[in-house]
Amino acid sequence: LEPAYQFMIRVRLPGGVATPNQWLTMDDLATKYGNNTLKLTTRQTFQMHGILKWNMKKTMQEINEALMDTIAACGDVNRNVMCNANPHQSKIHQEVYEASIALSEHLLPKTKAYHEIWLDEEKVIDSKEEVEPMYGALYLPRKFKIGVAVPPSNDIDIFSQDLGFIAILEDDKLVGFNVAVGGGMGMTHGDTNTYPQLSRVIGFTPTENIKEVAEKILTIQRDYGNRSERKNARFKYTIDKRGIEWLKQELNERLGWELEETRAYHFDHNGDRYGWLQNDGKWHLTLFVENGRIHDAPDYPLMTGLREIAKVHTGDFRLTPNQNIIISNVTARKKKKINELVSKYGLTDGKENSALRRNSMACVALPTCGLAMAEAERYLPSLVTKVEEILDEAGLREEEITIRMSGCPNSCSRPTLGEIAFIGKAPGKYNMYLGAGFAGDRLSKLYRENIGEKEILDTLKPMLNHFAKDRKEKEHFGDFVIRKGYVEEVISGLDFHQ
Ligand code: SF4
Repeated sequence: LEPAYQFMIRVRLPGGVATPNQWLTMDDLATKYGNNTLKLTTRQTFQMHGILKWNMKKTMQEINEALMDTIAACGDVNRNVMCNANPHQSKIHQEVYEASIALSEHLLPKTKAYHEIWLDEEKVIDSKEEVEPMYGALYLPRKFKIGVAVPPSNDIDIFSQDLGFIAILEDDKLVGFNVAVGGGMGMTHGDTNTYPQLSRVIGFTPTENIKEVAEKILTIQRDYGNRSERKNARFKYTIDKRGIEWLKQELNERLGWELEETRAYHFDHNGDRYGWLQNDGKWHLTLFVENGRIHDAPDYPLMTGLREIAKVHTGDFRLTPNQNIIISNVTARKKKKINELVSKYGLTDGKENSALRRNSMACVALPTCGLAMAEAERYLPSLVTKVEEILDEAGLREEEITIRMSGCPNSCSRPTLGEIAFIGKAPGKYNMYLGAGFAGDRLSKLYRENIGEKEILDTLKPMLNHFAKDRKEKEHFGDFVIRKGYVEEVISGLDFHQ
C-alpha cells in the first residue's frame, strides 16, 4: 500500500492577476483535492496544501485547462514575477502588468519536461540533447526574484527583490523603469555570512529594453553566482563580493549599451490601501485577508463569499503582495451586486481592524512548511490581538505600523522590512527586529533574541507608550525607534549583524 504523501502546489501567476474563472478553478481544486483552503502568497500567487500524490496530475491538468501553470514557481530559476497591484491607476496597471507577464514568459525555462510529465505531451527530444539557452545545463545557483513597482506604492517591496523595476511616469505616462539589483531577505540563524540585503538602484532603462536587461542580469548571476556554498548563492552575495561598479560594467558590456541615469522616484508605503476606489470608470475593492488564508471559518465564510463573487464578477482578481485580494475592474452596474455579496457574507475591507492588523503579514510556517522552526500564520493574529490592547491604551489604534512574522529565517514574509518583525527560532520563540522603514526602504535590526510572548509584550508596551508620547508629527514607528536609540539604523545588509 502506497503511503498518502501530500504536496504543496504553487501556481505561476505573474502580477497576481486571475480571472473569475481561474479563481473558481483554484477554489474547486482546493476543495476537491486540497485542504479546503487557498493561501495567497507574499509573491502574489496561489498555494494549495495537502494535495495527495495520486491527485497531483489531475490537479496540474485542471490548472493548465484554466490557462495557468506551475512552471518555475519553485526552483533555481526566475520565480513568480511580482507587480504593483495598483487599483489607483488602471492604465498604468495594465502596462506594468503586461511588462511583468513579458518578463515572466521571457525568463521561463524552455524545457518541455513539465508538459511531458504533467500534461502527458509526447516526448519530442531526449533530455540529454535538450538545450536550455538562457539557464544552461545547470540553471541558476539559487532562486531569482523579480518585481515591478509603481511609486508611490512599494507594495511589492522592490528592495527585497534580486531584480526590481521601478516604473517612472512622466505626464502620467510610463516612460521606463529604474533598475534595482541585489535585494534578498533570506539568512541563516547564527551565520553572519548570511544577511538580508536591500537592492541598489543602478540606472534607468526605457520600457522596451526591460526583457533584455533582465536576461543579461540573470545570466551574470548564472555565470558568477556561488555554486559551492548554497547559503551564499543568492545574487546579493555575488554583488556584495564583487561590488556594484563591477556589476554595472559587466551589465553594460553584455548589453552593448549603457543604462541611463537613475530617474527621480519616491515611495510612501509598502502596505495596501483598503476599500473601494474608482478610476477610469471602473471600481476596485481591496478586501483584508488575514495572512492570505482563504477558508470558511464558522463565523466568517470568506471562501464561499469570494466564490459567489467570482460567479458574477466580470473584471479580475488581483492578489496583492501583502496577501490581500482586490476585486478589480468592477463596472458601476456590477458594484451593487458585489456589495450585496460582500454584505451577505460579511466580507471585510479591514477597516474595523486596527491599523497594525491591516499592516500585518505572516508566512505559512507550521504545520505545512517543512522548514518552519516556529508558528507564524497561525500565531500572529493572536499576538496582534494582545498588542492591540497596548495600542488602544496608548491611543494608537489607527497608527499604521507594519508587523511581520516568519517561521524561519528564509523570511518569506519579508520580515526585516517590517517595522516590528519576528523570525522563528524554536516553538514559541522568536528573534525580534525593529527599525525598518515604513516604505520598505530600510532594514530592521535585531533587538531581542529568542524571546517568547510575555517578553515580546513586556518589550513592546513601554516602547509603544514612549512612541505615543514622544513621537514627532507624522513620524513612523520604525524611524522613532532609531531616533530614540532602541536600535541602530541599518544602512546596508552588510551592517545587519554589526
Ligand atoms: Fe518560508 Fe520559513 Fe515561513 Fe516556511 S517557515 S514559509 S520557509 S519563512
